[in-house]
Amino acid sequence: MSVPRSDFVAQRAGDLMYYTVPRFAREAGVIAAFSSRRGGKSSGPYATLNLGLHVGDEPEAVLTNRTLLCGALGVDAVHLVSCAQVHGTRVAVVGTADRGRGAFDQSRALPATDGLATGTPGVPLVTFYGDCVPLFLFDPVNRAIALAHAGWRGTLGRIGARAVAVLGEKFGTTPAAVLAAVGPAIGPCCYTVGPDVAALFVGEFSSGNRAVLNPEGGRLDLWSVNRQVLLEAGVRAENIAMARRCTACNPKEFFSHRTSGGKAGRMAAIMALE
Ligand SMILES: [Zn+2]
Repeated sequence: MSVPRSDFVAQRAGDLMYYTVPRFAREAGVIAAFSSRRGGKSSGPYATLNLGLHVGDEPEAVLTNRTLLCGALGVDAVHLVSCAQVHGTRVAVVGTADRGRGAFDQSRALPATDGLATGTPGVPLVTFYGDCVPLFLFDPVNRAIALAHAGWRGTLGRIGARAVAVLGEKFGTTPAAVLAAVGPAIGPCCYTVGPDVAALFVGEFSSGNRAVLNPEGGRLDLWSVNRQVLLEAGVRAENIAMARRCTACNPKEFFSHRTSGGKAGRMAAIMALE
C-alpha cells in the first residue's frame, strides 16, 4: 500500500518528534507544529508525549511533556492558551491577558471553545487531539493565526469556515490570503461512522463526492471535508497543506482515542506569532 504524500514534515529534537508545515515555515515569525506521541515522559496508555491534562495522566508528566515540546519549538510553555473543547464551533479571540490559561490547570482553560485566534505575538495557542482534525490558519498579511479542533460535529458545523470568518472580523483577514493546514487525524482508511452520521454529511455536503463519504463502507473522510469547508470559505486550494496521516493506523506515531478504547493521550497543535 502506498503512503499518500504529506505536506507536513517530521522534525526531531532529541527523542521528540513533531510535525511542521514547510509552507508556513517559509513565512517569518510564525510557529506551527503538531506533536507525535514520541519523546515524552508519560507511561502506560499515555506513553510517551501525552499533552492533555484532562485524560487521567499524571499532571507532572504532562507539564514536563509540554515544556519539552515548547522548548523545542521556541514557545514559552507557561504562556500557552488552551480551551476546554466540546465539539462545538466557538472560536475565541485571545490576547496577552489570556496567556497561561489552561497551561497548568485545565479548569482555567477557556470554557466551551473549540477554536482560538490571536493577532498578538507571544500568545501561543494550543488545542488537543486524539483523532479529531487540527486546522491551522495563518494570515501573513495581517499577522493573525487561528487553530480549530474539528471532530465530526465541528466539521459538520464548519468550524474551519468559522475560524476564517473570525480572522476576517477581528483582523481584516482576506480568505484568499490565508495559509491553511489540515493536520494528522483519523483518516478515510479508518473512520467508520453509522448511517445517521453518514446521512448528516450527505445532507450537508451534497456533492456526491465519494472522496468525502463512502456510504457503502460507512467511512467518512474528515480530511477532505475540512478541506472542502476551507475552500468554500474562500481559502485557495494551493494554500491548503494536507498532512494525510492517519492517527488510527499509525499507533507508534500517534495516540488514537478510537482505537485505544477511550484511554489515550493527546497530541497538541501549537501555533504562535513571534
Ligand atoms: Zn487509518
